[in-house]
Amino acid sequence: MKRVHWSGLIVLIVGVLLATPLFAAADTYRAGPVSISLEFQWIRQGHVGIVRVSGVEIVEVRAVFQDRLYRFYPDPLGYVGLVSADMDKDIGIYVMQVWITYADGSAERIDQEVEVNYGEFGRSEVTVSASLLPLMEDDVELSEADKLGNITSRFTPERYWTDQGFIMPTDTEIIGWFGAWRLYNETYWRRHSGTDFKMGSGTPVIAAASGRVMLVELLSIRGNYVLIDHGWSVFSGYAHMSQTFVVPGQFVRQGDVIGMSGNTGRSSGAHLHLEISVGGVWVNPEDFIALGVDKKE
Ligand SMILES: [Zn+2]
Repeated sequence: MKRVHWSGLIVLIVGVLLATPLFAAADTYRAGPVSISLEFQWIRQGHVGIVRVSGVEIVEVRAVFQDRLYRFYPDPLGYVGLVSADMDKDIGIYVMQVWITYADGSAERIDQEVEVNYGEFGRSEVTVSASLLPLMEDDVELSEADKLGNITSRFTPERYWTDQGFIMPTDTEIIGWFGAWRLYNETYWRRHSGTDFKMGSGTPVIAAASGRVMLVELLSIRGNYVLIDHGWSVFSGYAHMSQTFVVPGQFVRQGDVIGMSGNTGRSSGAHLHLEISVGGVWVNPEDFIALGVDKKE
């Protein structure tokens, strides 16, 4: 019995060695019938990388990257995963564990190295009225982050957005960049989770893509807020609105007016704060929209 046990172990070790990629920057790695392809050389902090997995008899693909679980979604070319590099995590080489389940119930793990590069974030100073300073407290930040994180970490297997992809909800001037370190009232440092657009109060705010409304609420920091699930672990959030016109559970189409811009919550003047989460991580909205995942020209 011992011989069988040890030979089984050797097969397992050889199997793991065969399944370990040899090239850090390889675009494509093949282990038997499985192909993992990275549609990027590296991912910048706060950005998204597209990963494709193809092979025969695959029924499920998942990956763990930067301690987060990513589900992959079937598409005509195999499976596609949208993997986010957290803006708060260091640059460097990370091992993405790709877990593949086959129709016969067997499973395999392939480790794929992924390089994370500098996000190049700016700094800015913000002054809010003294009455809003209690909203700078850590517990306020954490409870709001938890509330949104519980929703944005969900997986919806359908892709709700159309072949048109995502559109910018406005073409007005950008007045606040994603990921910027912001010094509030010369005291509190915070990261900016989205992009701010110049928009006077009472301007219609439209949905960047089709999806299901998950949350409509007056939040402490984000003010009147709408969060939309676009499927495939992609969510968009619209903050500081003066009015909202949608309800949770409602399906909206790209371009539908979901509310009016405003200055509610922890805000220093009327504007639209747009944020996009992929796999539970806030990512650069402009770059995600430009990425055009599954967009057909
Ligand atoms: Zn903002």
